[in-house]
Amino acid sequence: MTATSLYDASRQDIAEILAGQPRYRIDQVWEGLYVHLKSPSEISSLPINLRNTLQAALPMSLQEVSRTVADDGETIKILWNLSDGGSPIETVLMYYEDRATVCVSTQAGCAMGCGFCATGQAGFTRHMTTGEIVEQVILASRIAALADIRVGNVVFMGMGEPLANESAVWGAVEKMNHDMGISARHLTISTVGIIPGIRTLSNRPLPVNLAVSLHAARNDLRDELVPINKRYPIEELMQSCRDYLDKKNRRITFEWALIDGINDTERDARELHTLCASLRPSAHVNLIPLNPTPGWPTRGSSNNKVHAFRRSLEALGTNATIRQNRGTDIAAACGQLAAGQPVTLGKPPKADK
Ligand code: SAH
Ligand code: SF4
Repeated sequence: MTATSLYDASRQDIAEILAGQPRYRIDQVWEGLYVHLKSPSEISSLPINLRNTLQAALPMSLQEVSRTVADDGETIKILWNLSDGGSPIETVLMYYEDRATVCVSTQAGCAMGCGFCATGQAGFTRHMTTGEIVEQVILASRIAALADIRVGNVVFMGMGEPLANESAVWGAVEKMNHDMGISARHLTISTVGIIPGIRTLSNRPLPVNLAVSLHAARNDLRDELVPINKRYPIEELMQSCRDYLDKKNRRITFEWALIDGINDTERDARELHTLCASLRPSAHVNLIPLNPTPGWPTRGSSNNKVHAFRRSLEALGTNATIRQNRGTDIAAACGQLAAGQPVTLGKPPKADK
């Protein structure tokens, strides 16, 4: 057996632990864990000795450290310790009327170094396992169930770069889809633009959504904002998006965090439109007003500028939506997850120009 945690275990692992038990017992365990969101000790269809065996053999990976609530109870940020103790990570649960979205972390920290992102500012600790990624959704779903709300969407937009940890992420996608029953069309992987990862993803079977964090549509600016652009520049990134579209025939979304005076001008809108229009079907743009983080001096664009940028894109023929910001006052919004690092919000420091 290779698995060391409950949600890293395969059916085969469970069968080995419950040696000699008939197959229907394994099915009961599997359903209990993934559909009914139970811990082994709560799976009442199992004899008590089997529950105890499972519980002892396969511990959980995440220990809750704290829970913070914002937006009148509709956004919940959970800080966890991974079982190796040293690496805190965060998950955000967001309620929307009758369903919930969970934003999961895929790495403790991130090695990509985008300066405007709190996770990037904190640096990389380690990759997360499939079980650690899945467990975030299981535990968030238990919280949502108490409010009678079902988790319908999972976005891989928490701490870390999913496509730098593609195989563990894909293992999690499969468990969420096959075992938890979340439709692949309700799973979204967000990448900073790791080309080999996009290529691997294009050969994966399920039609998950792909979001590419662009933030700049010319190389000199993108090199500054997203340092990995020096390795995977825009033309090659666009080619990998085109190849992805040829294989998957699913629309790609470009994410664009609007930074005051940096990437919110008419010129930026034109350049972004040109990239979107070069894809078939044309890319959709998701605009995120930049959220404040401690290590980045420049502010997000004002509300007026965000709307003006959207109008410019739409006038050129590119569809754009403005992402409703959740959890900014508890540092749970995009780019603010730093897992226990001291985060000072409010007024960002002045740019030293
Ligand atoms: N590493 C992946 C996924 C995690 S980041 C990626 O970069 O896509 C999720 C999204 O939050 C990305 O689009 C990222 O660019 C954006 N983001 C990072 N810092 C932000 C900030 N301070 N304000 C708004 N969005 C931010
Ligand atoms: Fe990593 Fe994404 Fe943050 Fe960049 S924006 S540092 S890729 S988590």
